Amino acid sequence: MQQYISQLNEAQQLPVLQKEGPMIIIAGAGSGKTRVLTIRIAYLMQQGVDAFNILSLTFTNKAAREMKERIASIVGASEAKNLWMGTFHSIFAKILRSEADKLGFPSNFTIYDSQDSLRAISGIIKEMQLDKDVYKPKQILSRISSFKNSLVTVKAYYNDPDLQEADAMAKKPRMGEIYRNYVDRCFKSGAMDFDDLLLKTNELLTRFPEVLAKYQNRFRYIMVDEYQDTNHSQYLIVRALSDKFQNICVVGDDAQSIYAFRGANINNILNFQKDYEGVQTYRLEQNYRSTKNIVEAANTIIDKNKVKLDKIVWTANDFGPKIKIHRSMTDAEEGRFVASTIFEQKMQNQLHNGSFAILYRTNAQSRAMEDALRKRDIPYRIYGGLSFYQRKEIKDVLCYLRLVINPKDEEALFRVINYPARGIGDTTIEKLTVAANHYKRSIFEVMQNIDKIDLKLNNGTKQKLKDFVLMIRSFQVINEKQDAFFLTDHVAKKSGLVQELKKDATPEGMLRIQNIEELLNGIKDFTEGQVEVDGARGSLEEFMEDVALATDLDNDTTDQDRVALMTIHLAKGLEFPHVFVVGMEEDLFPSAMSMSTRSELEEERRLFYVALTRAEHQAYLTYAQSRYRWGKLTDCEPSRFIEEIDSQYLEYLTPPESNYRYQSTIDKDIFDDVDKSKFRLSKPVAGKPPVKKSPNDPSSEMNVRKLKPVGANASNSQANLFDNQLTIGNIVMHERFGKGQVLNLEGIAADKKAEIKFEVGGIKKLLLRFAKLDII
Ligand code: ATP
Ligand code: MG
Repeated sequence: MQQYISQLNEAQQLPVLQKEGPMIIIAGAGSGKTRVLTIRIAYLMQQGVDAFNILSLTFTNKAAREMKERIASIVGASEAKNLWMGTFHSIFAKILRSEADKLGFPSNFTIYDSQDSLRAISGIIKEMQLDKDVYKPKQILSRISSFKNSLVTVKAYYNDPDLQEADAMAKKPRMGEIYRNYVDRCFKSGAMDFDDLLLKTNELLTRFPEVLAKYQNRFRYIMVDEYQDTNHSQYLIVRALSDKFQNICVVGDDAQSIYAFRGANINNILNFQKDYEGVQTYRLEQNYRSTKNIVEAANTIIDKNKVKLDKIVWTANDFGPKIKIHRSMTDAEEGRFVASTIFEQKMQNQLHNGSFAILYRTNAQSRAMEDALRKRDIPYRIYGGLSFYQRKEIKDVLCYLRLVINPKDEEALFRVINYPARGIGDTTIEKLTVAANHYKRSIFEVMQNIDKIDLKLNNGTKQKLKDFVLMIRSFQVINEKQDAFFLTDHVAKKSGLVQELKKDATPEGMLRIQNIEELLNGIKDFTEGQVEVDGARGSLEEFMEDVALATDLDNDTTDQDRVALMTIHLAKGLEFPHVFVVGMEEDLFPSAMSMSTRSELEEERRLFYVALTRAEHQAYLTYAQSRYRWGKLTDCEPSRFIEEIDSQYLEYLTPPESNYRYQSTIDKDIFDDVDKSKFRLSKPVAGKPPVKKSPNDPSSEMNVRKLKPVGANASNSQANLFDNQLTIGNIVMHERFGKGQVLNLEGIAADKKAEIKFEVGGIKKLLLRFAKLDII
């Protein structure tokens, strides 16, 4: 143990060695906060603290797993096994299961993912006959989520005239009813959504003092990583649990608080000193992750924020290469630059794919990157898209399994009752729903008693319902005796899902079957892993719990060497030798939606700080001068964040601003069609069309240059002459189409084409040797 402690610097050792009392470690990125937490836990255990008494809350389950492995390597696997470590959601889901009866929920409650919640809300909006263009399900869900994370229950909502008025003003006077119906519907289904996992934990700890006491006594030592991004609900849970022993150690960086839009409250970190008595505050200043250039550049950025705690971050690491800035014409070209740079770097420096990460502000930006990486045969992985478990075919299997565990689960039932088709139509389902509401029973219970209730169903339909019930019952019987793998295999076949998929012989159809095989492999790993760990047969319930809370990051199979693509939000806490932050453009990053107030802009700036500080060795910031957004080609300007970095840390691969002269930039994409332009033309000022002269301007006459069409057999020098004249952004006049602006140029010499957006007639691609154009 001593050996691990001596590997820490002095400032890092202090919080490790302080065993008791409240403490906060505030420090910048890469200063070893997570490492300190890890070593601290190992040290506590070595000092005789029982693993059962330690609770550690992390940002992802992956982070928890890595921490646990590290601790296991220090104190031994059998000791580390008993640590309570995971995300808020996974830890408190476990606790809620064992205490569910107190809240009137079954212990096998289902955890609804956002798809389920959305489906339930859409159903409610339909039942209430509301206009779904006014009551947009996604908006409603996020409003309900914000209520829950601020502990506003339905009752509290109705006691708060301000909230009701706000919804009425937003033309949603029936918000409260939707909220109530949604809560009722989840309750009836024996289901909790993600936010409920925190809300209900709070309810449990406040309504049942004996339960609170039990967990206070169990979790004598509590640790929280990324404390700056806890929301109110999480904050209250931590406070309640640590109230008795006050052995609470939180670590965080106010400069990396990036989840305000989801209710995270930076004040939780700022007010920590006030919340507990005798708080020890530790600061770590040395960054071990990144080069001097990166650390110092990041410091200059965060300095621009007004709301912040003063911190020093320095590093003893080398200066390293400067941050490279690259401008391209389009997002596609940006993708090509990134892919070719990765390709070259890998060749030159024998690097793995896993050394590279591409970070972006919005998920939509991944497409251009993917296209370019695929062309280069560079393996990559996108994090944060639809998780494996949310794919249609997988979710279908899982919904059968959910019904096995909890037959009340309405969303699962709706999804599979007639898939694969078994002749149970919408009218029947509607009748069942009405009866269920009337008798205050679940739909499944109604189906079980279908002979006793008169729903005016014909015998054929009744039989189909009975068959369905029997099938689920038979799965339940198997579940009592067999492990999760056996059952899932059986369900996939007997439900008819596999046969259904086999009907589709297209490559997509085959892929779906492969995905189900992959699911089975995953379950096999899980069940065998469980046997190895404690001799138990991996139960379906445990597997489903893992699935419900798995984020995409958690399913990472580390043996695959791939470039990582993810949003900056998801990259928090991670590190990579080479990082590309792409789409560094105004309105994209900072996002157009986050520029109306200073605090929003400051949050975007913190996000940029997070992005840059993921890089260990080399950071690239790239931007495009135009990109398709919302289906439209849009002009872009470089992000203000680039300008905010002191220029001594930057190296421009392309000139930041260019003149009318074209640059013979090296199109690095040597694998592309060689005939494509080897010359890139640049705009006068990045993103801005040239200033139009007023008619009164004496020079305006001279400003009109006639373009001479170049003959098909034109020599190269003539073609270059031609290239020289027309640039992207030019306003031109065409004989037939009138006035337009040059959006893009491609091809060389006689094959040179211009993409022009005309005021009348839209975008056209014209071969310049025929088009008669005047530059205005
Ligand atoms: P973030 O704010 O991004 O979450 P962090 O403060 O949690 O960063 P860590 O991830 O714990 O920082 O550490 C950053 C890197 O520095 C890791 O690779 C870690 O192993 C390394 N590191 C931390 N402390 C030391 C040390 N004393 N000696 C050597 N390497 C260290
Ligand atoms: Mg960390």
